[in-house]
Amino acid sequence: MTTSAAAAIARLPFDKGRIYINGEWVTSSSAGTCDVENPDTAEVIATVPECTAEDLDRAVRAAHTAFYDGPWVNEYSGAQRRDAMIALAGAIEGSRGEIELLESLNTGKPIADVRAELDDTIDLFRHFAGYADKVEGRHIAAQTNSGFEGYTVKVPVGVIGFINAFNYPICLLAWKVAPALAAGCTIVFKPGPQTPLTTLYFAHLLDKTGLFPPGVFNVVLGGVAVGQALVDHDLVDKVGFTGSVATGKHVIRSTASTRNVRSTSVELGGKSPGVVMPDADLDKTARLVVGGCMCNAGMNCNALSRLWVHRDVYDAFLPRLKAAAEAMRLGTPQEDGTEMGPLIDRRQYERVLEYIRIGRDEDGAQLLTGGGPALGRGYWVQPTVFSNVDPEARIATEEIFGPVLSVLRPFDSLDEVIEVERRSEFGLAASIFSRNHQAIAKFTRRLRCGTIWVNTHNPLFSYLPFGGFRNSGFGRELGYESFDGYLASKSIIDDLSY
Ligand code: NAD
Repeated sequence: MTTSAAAAIARLPFDKGRIYINGEWVTSSSAGTCDVENPDTAEVIATVPECTAEDLDRAVRAAHTAFYDGPWVNEYSGAQRRDAMIALAGAIEGSRGEIELLESLNTGKPIADVRAELDDTIDLFRHFAGYADKVEGRHIAAQTNSGFEGYTVKVPVGVIGFINAFNYPICLLAWKVAPALAAGCTIVFKPGPQTPLTTLYFAHLLDKTGLFPPGVFNVVLGGVAVGQALVDHDLVDKVGFTGSVATGKHVIRSTASTRNVRSTSVELGGKSPGVVMPDADLDKTARLVVGGCMCNAGMNCNALSRLWVHRDVYDAFLPRLKAAAEAMRLGTPQEDGTEMGPLIDRRQYERVLEYIRIGRDEDGAQLLTGGGPALGRGYWVQPTVFSNVDPEARIATEEIFGPVLSVLRPFDSLDEVIEVERRSEFGLAASIFSRNHQAIAKFTRRLRCGTIWVNTHNPLFSYLPFGGFRNSGFGRELGYESFDGYLASKSIIDDLSY
C-alpha cells in the first residue's frame, strides 16, 4: 500500500479501521479485514474491518433502541429532521472534492461521472429533507356522520436494514438513506464489499453534524455473512436490498423465515432494450446508445444492453454505432476527459470476458468492435458491440454488467419488438428513439418496465420513482413512492357517542 492513491486515502479524516455504531467509531469483534482495491490498477488502496454477526447484532440493537426509545422518532419534530438532513447535505457539499476523488479511486469511475453522482447525492438529501415535515395521514370525511371519527396517521416503518450493490456507492446510499431518514426510520447500512470507503466518509460527516442522535445511522462492513445476518435479524423491520436477482431471491426467502414477517424492497438486475425507429436521428442516436450502454463501464442495472434497430436503417446505423463505441475515451479515471473506466474487480472482469467468448463462440454473433481487455492493466475491457444477435441468445438475454452491447437482428414492426420484450424476465427500463408519437405511445403504454425513456437513456431524477417489474424486483426508489415505502398507515377509529 505504498501508492499515491493509498497515501491520499490514508490522509482522509475518517477512520478506515473502525465501524460506526451507536454514534461511535468502534472496532469489530473480529480481527478480520477486507482489502479495498483501485480497479484501474488492481492495487490495494485501503484495508477495512470485516464485520461479524456479533457486530451486526450490536448495530441492529443500537438502531432498535434509537427507534423505540430515542429522540429522533419520539421527540424530534419533522422540521428538526428536515434541518438535520439539510445540514448533512451541506456537509457532503463541503467535502465533495475529497469524496469524488475517493469514489473515483475505489470504483474506477471517470471523475466527471462521479461529480454527477455527487450532484445527485446532495440533491437527494435536500429533496427528501423537504418531505420530513410533510408526513400526512388522511381524514375520511364519509365517516363523520356515522357516529365514528375515522382517520389515518402515517408512522415510520422502524429499523431498516439496507444492503447495497457496489456500482453507485454514494448515490445508491442516498437513494435509500435520504427517504428513510426523512420518514423517521433508523438504519443499519451495509455497502457492497468492494466499495465501502465513501460510506465510511458519509458516516463521518453525519457524525460531525452532531444532529443525528446515536443509533440513527449505523454502518457494518463485509459480504455474504454479515448481509445474511442482517436479513435474518429479528429486530429489523424492513430490508431494502439492491443487487443481483439470485441474491435478491435469496433475501426474499430469508426475510420470510424470521420470527416476524417484514416488508422488503428488492431492486435487482435488468437487460434493458433500446429501439431505433426508422425516423430516428442516426448520428445522435448512435452516441446516445453507446452512452446508455457504456456508462459506468456497463455496470448499470438499467444499462441499454440489447438494441433493436429497424431494418430500413440497420445498415446505415451500424457503422455509426461502431464509430461512437470506438470514440469512447478510456484512461486514468481521475483525469478530465476520461469517458469510461474499468470493471470493479477480477471476478467481474473475468465474467465479462467469458460472456464475450460466449457471444463469439456459442451465440454465433458478429463482433462489430471491441472484444478483449484494454490498457494492459487493472480490470479494463474494451467497449464491445455485437451485431445480428438472436434475441434469445445468452448475450442478448442475460445481464452481463459490463460494456457489451448486443444489437439484435433487424426488426420490421414495433409489435414484434413489444411481443418479444414482454417475455423478458426483466422489466427495469427501456428506451425508444423516434419522433413518431403513435409509436412512442404504443411502446410506453404496452411495455411493462419501471422506467421508459424517449430519445434518451439513463437520466434519473430525485422526484421520479425508479424500480422494476418481474425479476427486476419490487418496491420503488426515488420520488414520493420511495418515501412512502418507509411509512406505515395506522387507522384511528373513535366512537363519538361514548
Ligand atoms: P450481489 O447480489 O452480488 O450483492 C449485492 C449485495 O448483497 C452486496 O452488498 C453483498 O455483500 C450482499 N449479499 C450477498 N449475499 C448475501 C446474502 N446471502 N444475504 C444478504 N446480503 C448478501 O450484487 P452486486 O454484484 O453487488 O451488484 C450488481 C447487481 O445489482 C446487478 O444485478 C445490478 O443490476 C443490480 N443493481 C440493481 C439496481 C436497481 O436499482 N435495480 C441498482 C444497482 C445495481
